[in-house]
Amino acid sequence: MAIHYPVSQPWLEGRELEYVTRTVGDGWLSSQGPFVKRFEQAFADYNGIAHGVACSSGTTALTLALRALGIGPGDEVIVPEFTMIASAWAVTYTGATPVFVDCGDDLDIDVSKIEAKITPRTKVIMPVHIYGRRCDMDAIMKLAYEYNLRVVEDSAEAHGVRPVGDIACFSLFGNKIITSGEGGICLTRDPHLAGQLAHLRGMAFDSGHTFLHKKLGYNFRMTSMQAAVALAQTEQLDEILALRRDIEKRYDEGLAGISGITLMPARDVLWMYDLRAERRDELRAFLAAAGIETRLFFKPMSRQPGYLDPGWPALNASTFSEDGLYLPTYTGLTEADQTFITGKVREFYQGIQE
Ligand SMILES: *Cc1c(COP(=O)(O)O)cnc(C)c1O
Repeated sequence: MAIHYPVSQPWLEGRELEYVTRTVGDGWLSSQGPFVKRFEQAFADYNGIAHGVACSSGTTALTLALRALGIGPGDEVIVPEFTMIASAWAVTYTGATPVFVDCGDDLDIDVSKIEAKITPRTKVIMPVHIYGRRCDMDAIMKLAYEYNLRVVEDSAEAHGVRPVGDIACFSLFGNKIITSGEGGICLTRDPHLAGQLAHLRGMAFDSGHTFLHKKLGYNFRMTSMQAAVALAQTEQLDEILALRRDIEKRYDEGLAGISGITLMPARDVLWMYDLRAERRDELRAFLAAAGIETRLFFKPMSRQPGYLDPGWPALNASTFSEDGLYLPTYTGLTEADQTFITGKVREFYQGIQE
């Protein structure tokens, strides 16, 4: 059956088309066009942070953040087991080593397990705000202070969660809370780090724009067309977050009391509505037959071929990835859509009991 309810779709109800049309009309398509700076400023202002450096994706934002902090071969970075693989890859791209820490019951990194993984090589902690749940940043910042570590927040799933780390990295991929199709942005309070981020993003040209390059840079720039969409999205972020809060509340209510599913702790901002389900794969097939797309939870990093821990340690993250899924979660999801979706979930478990 065709998908009527995708897990995600963008919300383009603001000035997206107007700004893109202006970009094309003005002939300023590249990163040098006016919208990149406007988006950087608007997103930084929204978060109350001084500096924004836009780039080509969430993955490149994380890579730039680590490079700007001087991370490289020989260094270790604390990364959660339960995350999207880009968090770990960004570390690997720099030549450093990701060191994985299991998740707690809210899927975020279990802060009580970080300290045991800190070594003299550890330089950075990378908390990831999974599905929009803010990590325990007070405890993480305290640890970072005690051990003199830097903090890079992977905020790819948490637009609207205010950053407190050295650098916070957001994704603007098509399925995120706000999007520019592909894109990303780093936020920092530190003007020196902001300079480094921009320098590395734009091929590390020497300040006089002579063709002298003292560092290994990247072309991780965002185009003005993407920034035009990103700016229009940022202008609607409050509204988008409010609509998504309503979606979360309606799912909570619609799914309450269904035996067979376990609801997850509340989110600080809603990226994806996650839950745990008995007979998950059968539920998924049942929902798919009704045109409802779902997606599985992440698989733990140390179960990935590139990071395989041959000791196969028992992990909370594995338990969650065996029965977790998320339901369609997009800003335009209506009450009627959700009534249909939660009704189908209920129908599945009632059918099993009979
Ligand atoms: C989406 C995502 C990324 C990667 O962002 P891209 O823009 O797709 O490169 C990184 N980390 C997390 C947690 C994500 O969800």
